[in-house]
Amino acid sequence: MKTVVLKFGGTSVGDLSRIENAARRVINKLKEGKRVVVVTSAMAGETDSLLSLASQTKGNLNPREVDALISIGEQKAASLFAIVLQRLGYRAKSFCGWQLPIYTDSVHTKARILSIQTERVLRELENDVVPVVTGFQGVSKEGDITTLGRGGSDLSAVALSHALFADCEIYTDVEGVFSADPRLVKNAKKIDRISYEEMLEMASLGAKVMQARSIEYAMKYGVRIHVRSSFSENEGTWILPEEEVMEKPEVRAITLDRNESRITLVGVEDRPGIAYEVFSALGNSHIVVDMIVQNVSHQGFTDLSFTVNRNEQSKAFEIVKEVAKKIGVKDVVLDDKIAKISVVGIGMRSSYGTAAKVFEVLYKLGINIMAISTSEIKISCLIEEKYGELALRELHQVFIEQ
Ligand code: ADP
Ligand code: ASP
Ligand code: MG
Repeated sequence: MKTVVLKFGGTSVGDLSRIENAARRVINKLKEGKRVVVVTSAMAGETDSLLSLASQTKGNLNPREVDALISIGEQKAASLFAIVLQRLGYRAKSFCGWQLPIYTDSVHTKARILSIQTERVLRELENDVVPVVTGFQGVSKEGDITTLGRGGSDLSAVALSHALFADCEIYTDVEGVFSADPRLVKNAKKIDRISYEEMLEMASLGAKVMQARSIEYAMKYGVRIHVRSSFSENEGTWILPEEEVMEKPEVRAITLDRNESRITLVGVEDRPGIAYEVFSALGNSHIVVDMIVQNVSHQGFTDLSFTVNRNEQSKAFEIVKEVAKKIGVKDVVLDDKIAKISVVGIGMRSSYGTAAKVFEVLYKLGINIMAISTSEIKISCLIEEKYGELALRELHQVFIEQ
């Protein structure tokens, strides 16, 4: 009998009537003769409000306690989901990550999954019980609750699908993956099939619809993902190996990321070892650094800029200020009014001139580019945040709508 993992995002379990709607989707699968495992996010807004409570304590937030707190939302949603399924006449049991267990490393708030014990889930499935598993959380070898990074229920679903040899369906509040965020670009087009590589770039570059790490995991283990709406029966978007994606446009999608901040070390000595000092200190604190730009030096001094996730900006800023004292720097500046605009497409590998076209669009809008980064299948430009949506719509118009 085929097993399918159905993951419901925050909006899809946003209130009791939505949970009932999601539960009916589960029941339809059962009626098709499938075994179903549910993975649920927290109800919409719940994780944010738990985080906001924590920050109101004004304490120095201990990551272990943050995880203990923010994992609560998923437990609430999973138990409500099981209760609703039971009321509709079906057998269901909720499980927290630690109950399976889903083992992770101990890097709180962005833990990595190490292994999943499936015995309990398989036993429940044998007994016609629908296991409703909390997304976003696991347990470390020390026995502490961990979370998998924002949007991490996607990763829970992908990893469980892999462990159970199951199909993976991600139910969300849009009809699938689009050529741009459909809430910002009204002519955004739904994509029928997209390669892991493109989806990974999109997710890393700000398309919130799938968590980047979940796509990394899917790509590594070949998990096929169907992203679709929990509010319609329409086919959504398939995320697949590249060989199964026939159409290879130069630009598949445009993304806008407003979640980064830029830190600049002004007037840093241009000598070997500086970059090592700065980035090893950040790496040791598990801070992920994105774009890095170093200017040409003048009289032996240069400026070094890089971007980090906005929710780590304060931590990164403090670390860099400490390093700056050691290496001698004129100033350290933090700028959180930036945005990263990117175009993504596997067809870029075999076309030329894409970058020039992107720069032309920005130039015609009078937008200055602060940094550029490219890979085989993407071009990203750092710009002022206030121009983000304008650039997004214009690039979409030029690359997708024409
Ligand atoms: P869930 O709670 O179901 O996990 P998310 O809020 O994490 O949902 O992701 C869905 C949202 O992602 C959509 O509401 C949409 O605004 C946003 N999004 C951003 N970029 C895209 C894109 N390219 N395609 C689809 N949705 C996108
Ligand atoms: N509830 C978590 C978050 O808001 C995980 C998720 O929704 O996937 O990030
Ligand atoms: Mg999500």
